[in-house]
Amino acid sequence: MITKIDHIGIAVRSLDESIPYYEKALGLKCEHRETVESQKVSTAFFHAGEVHLELLEPTSPESPIAKFLEKNPAGGVHHIAFATTDLPGQLKQASEAGVKLIHEVPFEGAAGKMVAFLHPKSTYGVLTELCAPKA
Ligand code: ZN
Repeated sequence: MITKIDHIGIAVRSLDESIPYYEKALGLKCEHRETVESQKVSTAFFHAGEVHLELLEPTSPESPIAKFLEKNPAGGVHHIAFATTDLPGQLKQASEAGVKLIHEVPFEGAAGKMVAFLHPKSTYGVLTELCAPKA
C-alpha cells in the first residue's frame, strides 16, 4: 500500500551551488548528504513538512542524472517517490497492470531505503520511484 509521497527527486548540476537556494531563499535545512555509488549520484535531503526533497548531482558522465541534465540543462524535477509498506508487492501490482519496471528487484538507495523505479514510458512521463525502509 502506498502511504505518502516520500520525496521529490530534483536533478542539479551542483549540490554546493543549489543547496544555498533551498537554505537561504526557502529557509529549509539540509538534513543529510550521501553519495550513492550504484546510481553515480551525490544526494542532499531537505525536509519540507512530511515530504523530503532529494537533490541529485551526477558523480560521473554515465550517471542517469548526467543524461537527464544533457536533456534539461537547467536541471529540474527528476522523479517522484512513493513510500510503500510492501515494495515487492507494489512492484508485482504495477507489473501485472502492464507497467514496465526499470528494476524488477529493489536495490539499496539513499537514506537506508530499498528502492525500485517504474519506467516513465509506462507512467505518463513521470519517472516513479517506490521506496520502503530496509527490512
Ligand atoms: Zn529518489
